[in-house]
Amino acid sequence: MKISECPVNKLGVSAAQKLIDRVVAEARKGRLKKRNLVWLEATGCSGNIISLLNGSNPDFRYFIRDMVNLVYNNSLMASEGEAAFEHLVRVSTADFILAVEGAVATKDKGLYNVIGNWKGKPVTAIDAVRWLGERAAHVIAVGACATHGGPSAAKPNPSQSVSVQSVLKRKVIKLPGCPCHPDWFLGTLAHLLLYGQPLLDEFDRPLMFYGTLIHDLCPRRSFFEKGIFAEKLGEKTCMFKLGCRGPVTRVDCPVRQWNDYVNWPIGDDTPCIGCAQFGFPDAMEPFISYDIT
Ligand code: SF4
Repeated sequence: MKISECPVNKLGVSAAQKLIDRVVAEARKGRLKKRNLVWLEATGCSGNIISLLNGSNPDFRYFIRDMVNLVYNNSLMASEGEAAFEHLVRVSTADFILAVEGAVATKDKGLYNVIGNWKGKPVTAIDAVRWLGERAAHVIAVGACATHGGPSAAKPNPSQSVSVQSVLKRKVIKLPGCPCHPDWFLGTLAHLLLYGQPLLDEFDRPLMFYGTLIHDLCPRRSFFEKGIFAEKLGEKTCMFKLGCRGPVTRVDCPVRQWNDYVNWPIGDDTPCIGCAQFGFPDAMEPFISYDIT
């Protein structure tokens, strides 16, 4: 039996979908009010909103039609300039959930990342994260840069970027990954809408997605146990000696997979680079090693 066919693992993969279906059913019966969602992009590459657009189960249309009112996202909204910023000002006094992708640049009072202008003055990412983060019902840090600094805070970190948590004195739900899988975000959001905060581990990651090591679910684990290791990329055995970070990376990629559940790095003969683990990328380098002695 394949690991992805194990009933327990299947249950984990379908949990996000079940939560999302429940949100939609409750909303259609009028028992659940659609809530406002603000998606701020701070210092990063916008890879997490792109990843969300790539979601398929549900897709992005379903997400904005049935789950939330997406009030603000600078990559996707039609408004621009101060007209766009007005949406943020309006929602800041209402009920809303805040998702932040990207790290927070702190050098020179945050001027390395200006997200907009308001009344002729620049608004930095650090200003926006603090202002909205203190008022939001929940704050979700989406992706590696938001959860712990990620590539934006990698050495030498010229913008002195830090995590969202570093600038907020409140609980921040953390969804590390570079990028964050659409299911990790949508499943967490669905749980917030239905039941409130999901069960988190000691680093504030939802246990339903970040509860197991990649190494423990990896279909190549039997090669590891028998000491059969790949010596070069393309071999179908365990890539531990090529630098695979599956043994230290806690997330459900082996069973959830990516791009409409088609494949994942190890399934495509690439070692895990630990993108969903705190410390990525500095703590996970080198991503590949040919020193297998
Ligand atoms: S390929 Fe990586 S995750 Fe899979 S068994 Fe080997 S070390 Fe573990």
